[in-house]
Amino acid sequence: MSKLLIIEDSPLIRKVIKHLATTELSCEFDFAESYAQTKELIANNDYFLALADLNLPDAPNGEVVQLTLEQGISTIVLTATTNEELRKKLLAMGVLDYIFKENRDSYVSAIRLINQLILNQDIKVLVADDSKTLRGYIKSQLSKLLYQVIEAENGVEAIKRLTEHPDTGLLITDYNMPKMNGIELIRHIRQSRLRDEFPIIGLSSSNDPTLSARFIKHGANDFLVTPFMQEEFQWRIIKAMEQIALIKEIRDAANRDYLTKLYNRRYFFNVGETAFEQAKNDSSNFSVALMDIDFFKKINDNYGHDVGDTVLIEMAAILNKWFEGMLVARYGGEEFIVVIEDLSASKVNTLLNAFREYTAQQQFDIDEHTINFTASIGVANNINQVESLDDLINQADIALYQAKESGRNVVIWENEPLGFE
Ligand code: GH3
Ligand code: MG
Ligand code: MG
Repeated sequence: MSKLLIIEDSPLIRKVIKHLATTELSCEFDFAESYAQTKELIANNDYFLALADLNLPDAPNGEVVQLTLEQGISTIVLTATTNEELRKKLLAMGVLDYIFKENRDSYVSAIRLINQLILNQDIKVLVADDSKTLRGYIKSQLSKLLYQVIEAENGVEAIKRLTEHPDTGLLITDYNMPKMNGIELIRHIRQSRLRDEFPIIGLSSSNDPTLSARFIKHGANDFLVTPFMQEEFQWRIIKAMEQIALIKEIRDAANRDYLTKLYNRRYFFNVGETAFEQAKNDSSNFSVALMDIDFFKKINDNYGHDVGDTVLIEMAAILNKWFEGMLVARYGGEEFIVVIEDLSASKVNTLLNAFREYTAQQQFDIDEHTINFTASIGVANNINQVESLDDLINQADIALYQAKESGRNVVIWENEPLGFE
C-alpha cells in the first residue's frame, strides 16, 4: 500500500502531526523536513498523497508543492498565510486543498480529510454528461480526491455503466443529455436504489432556476449550479458521501453484530422469512445451514476471550468469502447461519463440505498463538414439510446436534432432505 508524505520543517508542528497521525491515520507515513529530503524520499518510495508545507528553508516559494504535483502525487498544502491571491495560485497549480496552520483543529481536519481520501480510492463515481469538456473537468476534480471515475455521455449509457459497475458509490449527472436526460435517469435509478443508499448530485446551469428543485423532487440528494468553484464541488461531494456513510452506520448498528459485523439474528429473520415465503410460493430451492465452531470454549479457556473474539472475526471473514451474496448471520455466540437459495441439495452439500474443509485447513496467527479450528454444520431444505423458517432452522439444529454427536467437523442433513441424489 502506498504511503502519505508529510513535508514540514517546524519540529513543533511535526510533533503535533506525528502524534495525531500515529493515533488517527489509517495509512503509513513518512516525514520530510526539506525540499532536498522530499526529493530523495519520492525517488525511493511510493506516495499517494502529500501534506506539504508551502515554505521550507531550501524552498521558500512553494517549490516543494510544484515538485509533488509534477510527480503525480495529490497534494494538500499547509500554509501560514491566508490571502486570496495565494488561494488562486494554489488551486491553479492543481492542489487538492489547503489548510491553514492555525491550531490543533486544523491538523485534525487535515487527518480527517486524508482518512476520507484513503477510503475514496475504493469508491467509483459515475459522471453522466454529454459535454466532454465538463466531464473532463469533473473527472479531474474527482481524481484529485482519489476517486475512481467512470463516464457516460447520456442517461442510457449511465444505466449501462451502473449495471457493469453495481458497486458505484456516487452519480453526478447533468440534466440536458441526448437519449435520456438527468431527471429521467434519476427516476429510473430510484426505482431500485433509494436516496439514502445511493447518492446522486444533479448539475444544473444557472439559466434554469427551477431545475435544482426538480432534481431534488425526483430523487437527487443535492445539486450543483455550474459553473462552480473547486472548493464548493469538493465540499458537496464530501457532504453527500458523509451523509450516506452516516445512515449506513446507523442502519448497521441496528442490523449487524458488533463483533463480527455480520448481520444479527433480528435482521436474519426479517429478511430470511420473506425469502422463505417466496421460495415456498415458487417451489424453489431453499436451504438453511446452521454452523457451530467445535470446542470453541477450549479456545477461550486456553488462549483467553480476546483470542476467542478474533477467531469469531476470522470465521466471519471465511463465511463472507464462501457465501458471498447470500444471507449470512451470526445466530448466537459461536453459531452462524446461512441461507442458500436456488441450489440443489447436492450442490449445497458440495459447497458446505468445501467450506468446512477449507476452514479446517486455515491457520491463524493470533497474538503469539497459531490457531486452527473446525465447524460442524446441520442443514435442512425440506420447505414443503415445515410451516415457517423457524421450523426449518429447528430441523437444521437437530442435524447440527447429530453432527456434534458423530464426532464434529461434518455436514449432516435433516432426516429427509429434498432432492438429494
Ligand atoms: P461444541 O463443539 O460442542 O460446540 O463445544 P463448544 O465449546 O464450542 O460449545 P459451548 O457451547 O460449550 O461453548 C461455547 C462458548 O462460546 C461458550 C461461550 O462463553 C463462548 N462465547 C459465546 N459468545 C462469545 C463471544 O462473543 N466471544 C467469545 N470469546 N466467546 C464467546
Ligand atoms: Mg461450539
Ligand atoms: Mg454452541
